[in-house]
This record gives sequence, structure tokens and C-alpha cells, in this order.
Amino acid sequence: MRALPSEFAEYRWAPSTNEIAAEVGLDPVEIVRFDGNVPAAPSPTARPGAIAAALACTNEYAHGGFPQLVDGIARYAGVEPENVVLGAGADDLIMLCARSFAGPGDSGAIAETPTYPVLRVAAHVAGAEIGDESPAVTFCCRPNNPTGSFGALPAGRPLVVDEAYFEYAGDTAADLIQDGVVVLRTFSKAFGLAGARVGYALAAAETAAELNRRQAPQPISGISAALALAALRGLPDVSAQVEERERCAHVLAGLGLEPLPSRTNFLFVPVDEPEELGAALMLEGLVVRVFPDGIRWSIRDREDDDLLLEALARAVDRPSPASVPTRRARHVRATAETRFRVRLALDGTGLVRVQTGAGIYDHLLEQLAFHAGFDLALDGVGDLETGPHHTAEDAALALGEALDRALGDRRGIARYGDAVVPMDDAVARGAVDLGGRPASEIRLELDPGLAEHVLRSLAQAGRLAINVESTGRDEHHVAEAAFKAVGRSLRAAVRLESDVLPSTKGRV
Ligand code: PMP
Repeated sequence: MRALPSEFAEYRWAPSTNEIAAEVGLDPVEIVRFDGNVPAAPSPTARPGAIAAALACTNEYAHGGFPQLVDGIARYAGVEPENVVLGAGADDLIMLCARSFAGPGDSGAIAETPTYPVLRVAAHVAGAEIGDESPAVTFCCRPNNPTGSFGALPAGRPLVVDEAYFEYAGDTAADLIQDGVVVLRTFSKAFGLAGARVGYALAAAETAAELNRRQAPQPISGISAALALAALRGLPDVSAQVEERERCAHVLAGLGLEPLPSRTNFLFVPVDEPEELGAALMLEGLVVRVFPDGIRWSIRDREDDDLLLEALARAVDRPSPASVPTRRARHVRATAETRFRVRLALDGTGLVRVQTGAGIYDHLLEQLAFHAGFDLALDGVGDLETGPHHTAEDAALALGEALDRALGDRRGIARYGDAVVPMDDAVARGAVDLGGRPASEIRLELDPGLAEHVLRSLAQAGRLAINVESTGRDEHHVAEAAFKAVGRSLRAAVRLESDVLPSTKGRV
């Protein structure tokens, strides 16, 4: 094998979530990763249905490649299909560009330090040295990882611009592809498909053709191509993440931790003892990326980010800038048919997101959680090709299990709650008992299919009694009123009233 240069340093992955959990003595579900620069939730388009057709022909190669995906990318990027090169993530295209433009005896220039380490890895593996002396190729990461900065483009040509975070920055070098620039992009970041491994290069037609000649015959799978195509049907909206990034930056500044200005979905926070800080955060299950002069924080969403803000405030001995709810639970429920991840806070503000693909049942569970005053993120996938039954049922079971966890020993809660909720033609009367014995008396005059079953599943897994009767002429209204009535009842029942167990038997 050809020897690597002595200064070669391979790319190092952070440990797996299971390894970290074992090391710090936490359940893997408690580990929150702020180190991957990916969104907190997968793309809503990443559903079993999106890949069903691809699964049905996994015995075949995609003869002729993926012209539909290439067309879709070309439209999205504002170029022609002959300007597009596919790869297994931007990483694959960095390696492709390095080996196509440079080899032994050449040097490759890298625009900034620190920057994305795979640029160095790729140049070295291609046999080139790193240097600015008449480089065969220049690499530039813009916006830059790990700083988040958006620098000027180097003058060198050919120039490979890694735009993995393009959607967050909004600016691109793609209008320079006729001027010796190759732009690399990915579905891993704004599109939420890091696990699918799809990236692409944009280049002048002749350059793209030369790159394609040097690329593996089929660098991505049919399954990945289907996921990318599904994601392209809607444009990624990163505005919430950008807003959340600015909120976090503002709060950090208030703590005296001044992050660098960022045009990405992460913040670089210079600190004096990053190793120590990273290790202390890790003990709480909060994983950041540690650098010699700071930590890098991938923005997730408000609830997760508040955990990190609170922990950072403690680390610098400042009062917490975030009110992290105490009665909360993280939970994963996985069966042969479904896998759901739940994050639940009982004393929330009604920030709810249910994304299981089970149509109306997602909506009904959202209504229930919202009216209960919970913060809830419930996402995952089920075998919807068999109908919504497993998915809706397991989503309700997952929520019930998370509720049971968040309630802990149920000390001090009001225990009982009731509510009457009208909705147009429908009216529901509901009551719940959080005493710990599962029971359900559910009478819906009309049911869109699984509404009653979903409430029964919730009662069973959450160890609560649900008593609800709903009447009306429209099945959607009847079901929705019932879910809202259960939500309203839960809001009253979970309220903290004292610190004793709410039962005359001394136990719940
Ligand atoms: N470039 C940069 C700057 C990155 O930060 C990353 C992800 N860490 C990549 C490329 C790799 O992206 P992909 O998942 O598309 O290989």
C-alpha cells in the first residue's frame, strides 16, 4: 500500500451514543447529541412510503443511474443536469475531487485553519501534500466548519467550495462553476438526511463529466435516492433553526460566553478549558464537539438547547438563563413494526410536534398534548403500508410510557381532572385518574377508525384511567373533542398540589 504522509491524521468519529451512555452511566435515551451538526429531527418526508418502491427492487441496480434525482437537484440548484455529480454525501465528493485534481507530487491548498478535517484527509489520501505553492487544487469550506464564518472565496483555480451548510448561509459560489469552481452540497444538513448519505457536486459540464468518469459507478443506493427525491418535493425551511441559533448566541453572550458569529446550524464557543467543559457536559448526557480552543454546539431545538444553556450556566457559575422543566422524560419505544422517540415535559407551554405519519392520529395526539399543557416531541416511523393501526397504537403507547416516566412516583399531583369540551356539532365530557391503575371507558358516537383504540392504549401504557364520552355528527369533531377533553383533564390532574402521595391508601 502506498504510504500516507507522516503528518496524516485520519478522520475521527465521536463515540457512539451507546458507548457514551455506558461510560457515563445513563440510559442511551438521555444522551443528547450536540456534536453532529444535523437537525434534531429527521426530514418529515423520510417515511416508509417514500422508499417502498425502491425496496421492492433492491435486487436490481438502478440501470441508467438516477436521472430523476439529478434533474431534481439541477432544478433546486439552478443548473443543468449535466452540471451535477452524485456522491455518497459531500465527503465522498471531497474524496472524488481530491483524487481527480491532485496526486503524488502535487500540493493541495486549504483555505482556512481550522476547517473541516476531511479536506486534509482527502488530499493526503490522494497522495498530495498540503501547501499553497502552485496548488493543483484549492479547497475552501464556506461557511466554514467549525467556526461558522463565511469567508471570502480564494482566488486559486480549480477551487472546490464545500457548501455543506449552504441552506443556512443562503449565499453560494454556484454562479462561478464556469470559472473553475466546483461546489459541493449535501442532503445531510438542512434536508435532515445524514443517514441516507446523499451529496452532490455542481461543476461546469466538462468538469462534471470528468468527475463522473472518476466516480464509483453507483455511489448512492436506490433507497437513498428515493429519500432525497422525496425531500426535494418541498424546499427545506431553516428559518426556525436560524432563529434558535441567534437566541442561543444571545443567551450565551449574557453568560459571558461569546460565540463566534455563525452562518450555519452550529455555534463555536471559545472557552479556556474545552476538554474539561466537554467532559463535564458529557457526564450530564450532553455531547458537544471539543476543539483545542472551544466547543462546537449544533443547534437542536429550544427544549434541547435549554438543557445545554442551563448546564453551561452552571459550569460558569451563573444563574440559569433557561427554565428547564423538572418533570420531563425521554423515551424510545421500538417494536418490530415501529420505532418512536418521545420527549415530554409536563409543565410545558404547549410546544407540540407529533410526526408518525399516522395522519389524523398525529393531529389528535397533538391536540391532547397541547390542551394538557405539555411540551411534546414524538417522532418516528411505523409500518404504514399495513395501515395506520400499529403506528397509531404504538405512538399512543410510547406517549403513555413517557407520561408514566415523567410522573415519577406521582407524589403531590392533583391526580383527578375533568373537562367538558364542545367542538361545533360535538361535545365531549372527559375525566382522568392518575392513581396508577389503567382503565378506560371510552364512548365515541362516531370514530374515524382508531380514536378509541388510541385512547385505550394511552390509558394502558400511562397507567391512568380515562373516562370519556363524546357525541356529535362529524366523526372528526367527535374524536377531536374527546382528545381535547382528555388533554384538558390531564392538565388538571398532573398539577402539583403538595408533596404527598394522592391516595388515602398511602400509595397510588
Ligand atoms: N463538509 C462539511 C463542512 C461538513 O461539516 C460535513 C459534515 N460533518 C460534511 C462535509 C460531510 O457531509 P456528508 O454527510 O454529506 O458527507
